[in-house]
Amino acid sequence: MGPTVDAPSCALPSRPYRLADRAVSPSGTTVTVGDVTFGGSHVVVMAGPCAVESRDQLLQTARAVRAAGARVLRGGAFKPRTSPYDFQGLGRDALELLAEARAETGLLIVTEVMDSLDVELVARYADILQIGSRNMSAYRLLERAAGTGKPILLKRGFQSTIREWLLSAEYILAHGNSRVLLCERGIRTFDAEFTRNTLDLNAVPVLKQETHLPVIVDPSHGTGRADLVPTMARAAVAAGADGLLIEVHCDPASALCDGKQSISTEAFGSLMGELRRLGPFLGRAVA
Ligand code: PEP
Ligand code: MN
Repeated sequence: MGPTVDAPSCALPSRPYRLADRAVSPSGTTVTVGDVTFGGSHVVVMAGPCAVESRDQLLQTARAVRAAGARVLRGGAFKPRTSPYDFQGLGRDALELLAEARAETGLLIVTEVMDSLDVELVARYADILQIGSRNMSAYRLLERAAGTGKPILLKRGFQSTIREWLLSAEYILAHGNSRVLLCERGIRTFDAEFTRNTLDLNAVPVLKQETHLPVIVDPSHGTGRADLVPTMARAAVAAGADGLLIEVHCDPASALCDGKQSISTEAFGSLMGELRRLGPFLGRAVA
């Protein structure tokens, strides 16, 4: 279990994130959810569609990612879309479908909570609550989510510094919830011609020095391109990530959300094979 006490006096003043500070737990913290442990010797893979679109789409994708070795199923029920005219997610119906997929496959569920008003509802279904990039600094939402006691996957704000991100994590920790996973998902830079975001893999070794919290990488939003996802997933594991969050769709061309960056179930199977072969060279197992 992670720390819930004040940082010891050895914490450096230059690190205002007192509870997230590496000095609190120099060997790193593990976060256990069901039978899955983040931050240990295993790299945990979370995979699934950007959004839950239908029963068929979710179950087909869930079965495939499970067979390939993912441990957690991702899928948005409430989607933060740039345009109000785009698909916003199926809401409560999607949560029911996620619960059905969990019951059938045994996969844990990670799904985003966008609004404080939905925290209790989403927490009734999710094993891990995702706080999206756009909400990293929604401090009251962070506190409400923390109060559920559920583990929190905190995505990096696309315009946020690592320090700001760690201070957001601090809001969750200071609210008595020690199960925080940090997820690098790319930041907005001047060069958006070839990629949607710039996946900041510098953040992985920096976070390993600065904080004891497990570090996850999302190469799907980090690149915006399905063809780049496998390379950057391997790079993330090589950089020391404790987990991956990957968008996988049973038919990416028909996806209602983020199809361009979603890899097929076949591509995901190949990627898992590559990661499994890569793991031992890095002293990690991939699951
Ligand atoms: C997502 O995971 O589908 C998502 C909306 O992510 P982000 O908040 O990183 O944009
Ligand atoms: Mn997405």
